[in-house]
Amino acid sequence: MKMILNERQHAEEALEYGKMDKKPTKTLVCIAKLCLEEGKSKSDTYNVLHEFMAKSYPNYNTVHWESFFYRVIHQATRYIKTRKERGKKSLIEIEHVSITHKELNQIRELRSKRLEKLAFVLLVYSKINNQIHENNLYWINHAWSEIYSDTGMAVSKKDQGLLVYKLIHSGLLKESRRFDSTSVQVLFAHPEDAVAIRLTRFDDFILEYLRWTGETVKDCSVCGKRVLAKSNRLKYCKNCKKKLGK
Ligand SMILES: [Zn+2]
Repeated sequence: MKMILNERQHAEEALEYGKMDKKPTKTLVCIAKLCLEEGKSKSDTYNVLHEFMAKSYPNYNTVHWESFFYRVIHQATRYIKTRKERGKKSLIEIEHVSITHKELNQIRELRSKRLEKLAFVLLVYSKINNQIHENNLYWINHAWSEIYSDTGMAVSKKDQGLLVYKLIHSGLLKESRRFDSTSVQVLFAHPEDAVAIRLTRFDDFILEYLRWTGETVKDCSVCGKRVLAKSNRLKYCKNCKKKLGK
């Protein structure tokens, strides 16, 4: 998942250990939000961004980044202001997403691995959106490429649309009526039921659905990454296996 689900944690780890998203701008936005939320002035926030980049970004060039920092600070200020006006938290801090038995059973009833995987990912995204927007509407408006990338399936553009249509047709999804919108709403959320899966990590989270359906999923004993295991002896993920020369 490309989204940063815990902006506070992301910003704190960036400042402490120099960790950075693949897209540095995402990290800068989180840091700016954290500083401003803590009550720092815009110029102090600028200095924090500057020091962070000087320390953590190879070939950092002040001139190149200056106007960019101002833009990030301006955007973060506006964002925090709007969120506060609406009585919402200024930073996104998602710790977990819970999926219930009833939701999983309904997904399973689709009896098509491809549709099941897509439905599971959509449910997770909709619950994340609810937490971000602090509502219970289960709307999703992410890029389909991003959603499909989390299903772990290679699906052609044409089939992507077809699978979504099938979920709409089975009554699991609703399309937005706005003509310019690609939003869909998840209609199979049953948060009142008992929790079956509690997601706390969002890398390869589709594997938690496969684990629930009875497939063997193991955690790499070096890095902890989840791996779909064909044999019970599997110990490492592909990357770690390569590094260890096994
Ligand atoms: Zn590993």
